[in-house]
Amino acid sequence: MVEPKTHLRCPKCDSEMEIGFLLDNSGPNLVPTLWVKDLPVRSFWRLTKIRGKTIRRVDAYRCVKCGFLESYAPTEWKGWPKT
Ligand SMILES: [Zn+2]
Repeated sequence: MVEPKTHLRCPKCDSEMEIGFLLDNSGPNLVPTLWVKDLPVRSFWRLTKIRGKTIRRVDAYRCVKCGFLESYAPTEWKGWPKT
């Protein structure tokens, strides 16, 4: 588990940054936008082949004053934990 960054300052206006994430709502499941290593490769069934690729969750920090976004991908994504 990687802890969120707590003291980021906006590189544009030097205000506080708050953590959030970019939501991928293009399909039936609502999941965070993910970062995939390497360039996309077309797959017949899923449009983009991702098997065996390194996948990470994208954490996006937003400036509370000007709205500037800065993204990091510190955590490997293996899907939602089983409940
Ligand atoms: Zn700002």
